[in-house]
Amino acid sequence: MQTLLQHGFGVRDQEYLKTEYHDGHISIHIKTKADKLRCSACGSANVIRKGKVQRAFRTVGIGLKPVFLVAEVCILKCKDCGKQRQEKIHFADEKKHLPMP
Ligand SMILES: [Zn+2]
Repeated sequence: MQTLLQHGFGVRDQEYLKTEYHDGHISIHIKTKADKLRCSACGSANVIRKGKVQRAFRTVGIGLKPVFLVAEVCILKCKDCGKQRQEKIHFADEKKHLPMP
């Protein structure tokens, strides 16, 4: 599954948690590895976790079923630039380049 995430979805810095099969769609739960957390403003790794939210990203389907990546997104307070933001999720940008199923 980790390999599929990396090559199929461009997910590199996240670890795989679980897959849930629903009526009509599949959700793959992931979260960013602790040592990959970065400030989305300045890119610093010098961050403190302040909480987390769940965000779902539509991604390429498996067969006929739509697949959502459900990411546990940390809210980070940056000790370098002082901003508090959600962590940087690179695949959220990259996936815009994928063709729609
Ligand atoms: Zn920062």
